[in-house]
Amino acid sequence: MNIEELKNTLFAAPKNGYTRLSAEERTEMEAHAKGYAAYIDACKTEREAVAWTVEQLEAKGFRELVPGMELKPGDKVYRNNRGKALMAAVIGTESMNEGTRICSAHIDSPRIDVKPNPLYEDAGMAYLKTHYYGGIKKYQWLATPLALHGVVCRRDGTTVTVTVGEDEYDPILMITDILPHLAADQMQKTAASLVSGEQMNVLLGSEPLEGEGSDLIKLHMMKLLNEKYGIVEADFLCAELSIVPAMKCREVGLDRSMLGAYGHDDRVCAYNQLAALLQLGTPRHTAVCLMADKEEIGSVGVSGMQSFAFETFMHDLCDATKASLYRCFEQSFCLSADVTNAYDPNFPETCDRRNNSMVNMGAAIFKYTGSKGKGGCSDASAEAMAYIRSVLDKAGVIWQVGELGKVDQGGGGTVAAYMANRNIVTVDAGVPVLSMHAPMEIITKLDCYMSMRACKAVYED
Ligand code: MN
Ligand code: MN
Repeated sequence: MNIEELKNTLFAAPKNGYTRLSAEERTEMEAHAKGYAAYIDACKTEREAVAWTVEQLEAKGFRELVPGMELKPGDKVYRNNRGKALMAAVIGTESMNEGTRICSAHIDSPRIDVKPNPLYEDAGMAYLKTHYYGGIKKYQWLATPLALHGVVCRRDGTTVTVTVGEDEYDPILMITDILPHLAADQMQKTAASLVSGEQMNVLLGSEPLEGEGSDLIKLHMMKLLNEKYGIVEADFLCAELSIVPAMKCREVGLDRSMLGAYGHDDRVCAYNQLAALLQLGTPRHTAVCLMADKEEIGSVGVSGMQSFAFETFMHDLCDATKASLYRCFEQSFCLSADVTNAYDPNFPETCDRRNNSMVNMGAAIFKYTGSKGKGGCSDASAEAMAYIRSVLDKAGVIWQVGELGKVDQGGGGTVAAYMANRNIVTVDAGVPVLSMHAPMEIITKLDCYMSMRACKAVYED
């Protein structure tokens, strides 16, 4: 063997995904990107993602899973966890005692939440006080178009949906920044303290109601909200209102090879899982699709991945197919799908280039995430990695190996550890993202499409 042949035999040779993409795959990739763009524009909160997904599931014959149901292979069910998280399954031909194939993603994204007592007036303007949710660089949210999304529970027991800033003719909202001319002190600060949490007040309006007295601008805002949504100030306490970027998904680059949007993390993986699930016939193993809330703040709460809601759903599935829950967990495999950082040549010092995922190299597969000495991750076994490698290769998926940033630079984790803690073999996978957690994040169409193919390969194994 000459040197070239020896290299080809012995070396791993990662290649740009476009060199291996068939014409057919390219067409499918573009269609997938279009579908995803529509989804990401319609779903800017976990509630919107759940509502949208339930509609899709129902249209494809999924029914709500109720205790006591009997299920047979090919049956399709879902459970809506309080409007904020979702679980769906297609029953396989094999008993659930032989395990399931799970894909998990989260549908919450970093954002700015409105406080329970938010509305006030100052210096001739009305504002909303906020409390950010998840890991954001606060300064990125200043002087950029924002929208208001959420729900308010009124005293009469009804709930109203609020959306401001999405319709072309809607007003947008904004958080202001100080002009450079007067930023001498601000520019001396570190990026983390450039703007404080308590300065993240959303500008709501400036016109007072006609009349005498104080707080006439605040009163004007409350009157407008009351006319449109039937709410009063005290109802803010019983509300979930979020400030999110008002931008729509756009193709990025002269070649249109990328997508810029708010909330790729992690709704791109949620969409990919769903798209894969909806293409399934009757699988061998029961396919389970999880869309969790609260990942950005630790997967806590009733709608987070640590919640017993997952056990309850799986228990009901096992019950309906006469299988044992703990046997099922032990035999199951989970692809924990969450976005990761794409290597950014503008910040090479943050990554180990030999191990970081790169754009257009396909779905990224991780042995571990975590920070420092792998803290907080599930660290998949060699056997688990061998399994996913064989599944992806068999299905012709373009994929790459990833690690989030260089050692000791920072790190991250997702729901993988919570799945693995349940005695489910779990591997991390995801779509590489540029500008993660920024108001507009970037992914490539190829990586998005291949991650959907990865979910499909797992479901079909
Ligand atoms: Mn994520
Ligand atoms: Mn995140």
